[in-house]
Amino acid sequence: MIPSVLPTYARAPLTFVKGEGSWLIEADGRRFLDLGAGIAVNALGHAHPKLVAAVTNQAANLWHVSNLYNIPQQQALADKLVADTFADTVFFTNSGTEACELAVKMARKYWYEKDQPDRMNIITFDGSFHGRSSAGIAAAGTEKMVKGFGPLLPGFVHLTFGDLDGVTNAIDDTTAAILVEPVQGEGGIRPMPDAELKALRQICDDTGVLLILDEVQCGAGRTGKLFAHEWAGITPDIMMAAKGIGGGFPLGAVLATENAASGMVAGTHGSTYGGNPLACAVGLAVMEEIAEPAFLAEVNRKASLFNQKLEGLIATHPDVFESVRGSGLMIGLKCKATNMDVVNAGYDVDLLTVPAADNVIRLLPALTITDEEISEAVARLDQAATVVSKGQ
Ligand SMILES: *Cc1c(COP(=O)(O)O)cnc(C)c1O
Repeated sequence: MIPSVLPTYARAPLTFVKGEGSWLIEADGRRFLDLGAGIAVNALGHAHPKLVAAVTNQAANLWHVSNLYNIPQQQALADKLVADTFADTVFFTNSGTEACELAVKMARKYWYEKDQPDRMNIITFDGSFHGRSSAGIAAAGTEKMVKGFGPLLPGFVHLTFGDLDGVTNAIDDTTAAILVEPVQGEGGIRPMPDAELKALRQICDDTGVLLILDEVQCGAGRTGKLFAHEWAGITPDIMMAAKGIGGGFPLGAVLATENAASGMVAGTHGSTYGGNPLACAVGLAVMEEIAEPAFLAEVNRKASLFNQKLEGLIATHPDVFESVRGSGLMIGLKCKATNMDVVNAGYDVDLLTVPAADNVIRLLPALTITDEEISEAVARLDQAATVVSKGQ
């Protein structure tokens, strides 16, 4: 008999009833050190007092009003994002997938309004992940995600990650945009080198093609900049955000320049919940924390500390781990052993990590993780690796 919850997830047999900072707690009091943070969602950890206050205060006053009316919390969050990023304008969604939908629509509408309606193709890269909607799976093109779900949304051109010559050759008068994650998440924490992001920006400047960055996983302070593209010194035309910007409350956004957004006039897009007062009150509290230079400096300091310790871990367990990669606190441990064996051995020592493609385990801790918790995390990874080693 089919379970009452549609069985689309392979779940670990763990059930948490409470969260505190970097810790998740089961009903019997067993405490897990959480290096997954809801897959880069709980950017400020669990039950951060400022977020608890923001959601509680807003809940006591007004949960939801329609986008038929002004929503001051939405206005405040949009103003903050515009002030702190490249963007001139923001649309709020409930998820990263919905942000992908709008990014695709926006790019196509842009060219439609420029009397070039044939420019509808979007260049994407292997290993990418843009969500599970028809547009998201067509954009990524991974067989595992698309098989059985045809016909797929047309208009995506798939290239090898980092193949800049391929990009140049693929651009023609049907190309609307290039869509890329500055650091691939699901694909195995694969950062696009700054020089390649710069080159993509240059190609877009030369051809007028729009650059869409998917910062759903790598944004929101995760890499030690407010958004990852800042490391490369470039700006996109359109950017998708979600996960960390809501700190655990469902919130996504599309940020855009005035030019890129110019086709999106009244009536062209909408969302019932998108940008509702509860989500935006929390989102504003998250932004007020993570956009602070001192907060981002701490992320960078802790990322160096973590990486240094992980290099030591790899040296101790060369049979289990191969290398560490990533950006800031978006860390990938490329495994020699099977990554899922390491994740499972982690559960046995009360440590939560997240598998990714390319035999990688992801470490995406709360950005508020402490130095002591980093040491504890590496100690537990060491214990897990010892077990995996012995089993080999
Ligand atoms: C998680 C993710 C998405 C999809 O976001 P949802 O909120 O799950 O819809 C899109 N792009 C990237 C890079 C992601 O990591």
